[in-house]
Order: sequence, then structure tokens, then C-alpha cells
Amino acid sequence: MDYQLIRSSRRKTIALQVSNAQVIVRAPSFVKTAYVEQLIQAKLQWLQQKVAEQKENIVLSPHFTLQFSDASLANEPSLYIDGLPHRVIIDFGQKNVIHNPLAQSLTVVLNPRYKSYALNSAAVITKIKAQIECWFKACVEAYIEDNLTVFSQQMSLHASSFKVRKYKARWGSCNSRGELSFNYLLKMLPTWVIDYVIIHELCHLEHMNHSTNFWQLVAQHCPEYQSAKHWVQKHQPYLQWS
Ligand SMILES: [Zn+2]
Repeated sequence: MDYQLIRSSRRKTIALQVSNAQVIVRAPSFVKTAYVEQLIQAKLQWLQQKVAEQKENIVLSPHFTLQFSDASLANEPSLYIDGLPHRVIIDFGQKNVIHNPLAQSLTVVLNPRYKSYALNSAAVITKIKAQIECWFKACVEAYIEDNLTVFSQQMSLHASSFKVRKYKARWGSCNSRGELSFNYLLKMLPTWVIDYVIIHELCHLEHMNHSTNFWQLVAQHCPEYQSAKHWVQKHQPYLQWS
């Protein structure tokens, strides 16, 4: 088994540690390498198990990894929620999704029957994504519901209806019947950027194009619209969802 040996003259005892699926041995400088080898052999089963556990982090895309709640490896925050990177933790139980904004974590709680599945199986990954998508949709629906009326009144522009759905390559849309649609992946963006998207779509009720007049109207109601567009551009690689 591969391991990293770190010796220290100040150390009095040997410690075995598994971090990032790697074995680290911390030892006093007087300890012989043969003794360390013996210790590794004695603890081999435990070490192999820990390494395997930590390798179970699933990479869904270059910027999106999952972590199981019993794994000791803390994964990199990878899923953007409200404009901030969050860790995604998988647990088993009765709830569905638990968002902890202070800890910047999203716990996806799977039905305990998924315990019998391989953690990286297609069935489990599909279920995890579905639960996150469902939660995204509910959050964005509630946010648009609360804020669309406020902006509509301020701007004196009223949509005939709105819906929240999945889009691959757009944040929102407006059709000639005055119906607005919003992407549920907006949950990844900070609310001030979502506000820009709402204002942008409302402005299309007056100008069905991206003319100078359109952008003047956007600027009038959303002076920070360029920062919002820039935020999305800058974070584009982190906003992928396959
Ligand atoms: Zn537009």
C-alpha cells in the first residue's frame, strides 16, 4: 500500500491518517521505517476500507462532486446555490433536501431503500439529480411568484402568465402572448442576478428584441444589469447541469 511518511523530531507517537483517499503516517524521527511498514500491515484492512470510502465521491461533472455523509473526506464545494458554492452531501432518511446556507451545504436525503444500490450507480445518480432539480424548481417558483408582481407594478408591465421549467441554454424567455418562462437553474444564481433576468423578460413585453431601446429600458429598471451579465459569464463553467 502507498503511503506518505512525515517524520517530526517533536512527535512522540505514531499516527495513521487517511486524507483525500491517501494514507499519511506521522511518526517521531527515531522510528524505523521497518516498524512503520509493520504497522501498515497490521492496519491494512482498516486503511483499505477508509481509502475505498473516500474514493466513493462521485464526480458528476468537472465542477460537481457528491459526498456521502459517512465519508470522512470533505469534498470541494461544487454546486452553486444562491450564487455561492455548496458541498453536496448524500444521506439516507425521510426528508428530501436540506439546505444549510450558513454551512454552504445541500444534503440530498435518499430513501433508505437506495442503501442497497451501488452509490455511483445510474439509478442513484438519477435520483439525486431529480431531487435537486425538484427542489430548484420549487425554490425558483416561489421566488418568481413573490417578485414578479413587485417588478411588474414598478415597471407597469404585466405578463399574462409565467412558468418555471428546464432550459438547456437560456435563463428565461418571453413569447408574443406575453407568457414568461424561467429556468429552474436560476437557483444557482444570486438573487440580484435573478432579479435582472426577471426585469429582462418583463422588458421584452415592450420590446420583443435586443435593440438599443430594449437595453435602455432594462438599464432604467436594473442599473446593475451589466454586472449581472458579467456575473453569469464569469461563473458559466460552474453553472453547467447535465
Ligand atoms: Zn432577451
